[in-house]
Amino acid sequence: MKVLVLNCGSSSLKYQLLDMENENLLAKGLCERIGIDGRLAHQAGDKEYKADLPMPDHTAAVRFVLDALLDKGHGVIKSIDEVQAAGHRVVHGGEHFSGSVLIDEKVKKAIEDCCDLAPLHNPPNLIGINACEKLMPGVPQAAVFDTAFHQTMPPKAYLYAIPYELYEKYKIRKYGFHGTSHRYVAERAAAFMGRPCGSLKLITCHLGNGASVCAVNGGKSADTSMGFTPLQGLVMGTRSGDIDPAAVSFIMEKEGMTVKDVEGMLNKKSGVLGVSGVSSDFRDLEKAAEEGNARAETALEMFYYKVAKTAGEYAAALNGADAVVFTAGIGENSVLVRKKICSYFTHLGLTVDDDKNNCRGREVDFSTAGSKMKALVIPTNEELVIARDTKSLLA
Ligand code: ADP
Repeated sequence: MKVLVLNCGSSSLKYQLLDMENENLLAKGLCERIGIDGRLAHQAGDKEYKADLPMPDHTAAVRFVLDALLDKGHGVIKSIDEVQAAGHRVVHGGEHFSGSVLIDEKVKKAIEDCCDLAPLHNPPNLIGINACEKLMPGVPQAAVFDTAFHQTMPPKAYLYAIPYELYEKYKIRKYGFHGTSHRYVAERAAAFMGRPCGSLKLITCHLGNGASVCAVNGGKSADTSMGFTPLQGLVMGTRSGDIDPAAVSFIMEKEGMTVKDVEGMLNKKSGVLGVSGVSSDFRDLEKAAEEGNARAETALEMFYYKVAKTAGEYAAALNGADAVVFTAGIGENSVLVRKKICSYFTHLGLTVDDDKNNCRGREVDFSTAGSKMKALVIPTNEELVIARDTKSLLA
């Protein structure tokens, strides 16, 4: 079975075509600048195709994706009928979805109802779904939610200490994100350790541009650092993470900012970028810090400290942890970030082997043989989870 995986952003669309007989990646690519002009970058094995193409909307982008997949030169299928299902990443499923589902009108309505909760993400996700319905009529489609894995959190973890009526009226609570990634790396970590996931307490750290930590108890999310929106929690590339809410109204008043201004500032101009004034990219920050840039050094220290403190909270939430797991762009690639974060866990009995830690993008246990707790690198693969869920929904 060939499954097309789609991740639609406001002006972008990432895709992968997977053959689920053997979980082989057949092709992948990215459409950018949708609604502006349009650019496609497509890759199938060692064949690459890049083109500027008119993409006034997501339907046009999906059409170019299908054309690229069908192309005689860089394509991988002969007929569109070979695509037997589409799986969509949907950011927000609210309290409606605790797992992946096949899409029908009711599901679309529920995704639409969550647009208020994720105004930047859910509308393009829905547009992508509608575009596929139009261009691949009759092909089953599945929705895989970033929030679903975290629906197992208990009320003590997901409620905010604000008047309860606000939860009842508007569903204001912690939802958590990156659920597909946390679920995948927790399962892979268990397989790597040769233990059933159900018997393990794990702290999974998804450290990319957006970053979150999750307490995974027996394969289920017990708590996570992102909240009502992906702005809460860790210091991120450009997002502030936790901040005293009173500081927000103070800044708005002093700087004459509107709600939109301040939201933009907290989402796009804060985090390690805001503190360092250098970059949101950890490669640039590590280089600048090495060259003596004090603010870049402080931004990095803040990042390590916040991840470590949050993981420490989760060690308490889980009453101990068998392993800390690192994933995503920074977690998989930065030897320094992993070393610095783990240096806060010696009280939990974690000792790290620097030689083993000196690796990138592959599954590794970099704790020492005598360490009481394990430290793992597990590369994430959200697209594979989406394709697997889609396949199993159709079985
Ligand atoms: P996104 O949240 O956009 O999916 P990724 O998981 O792809 O993010 O992570 C992107 C980030 O990973 C980059 O911004 C960069 O900070 C970091 N990164 C990638 N490679 C390295 C590296 N070799 N060393 C340090 N950081 C890296």
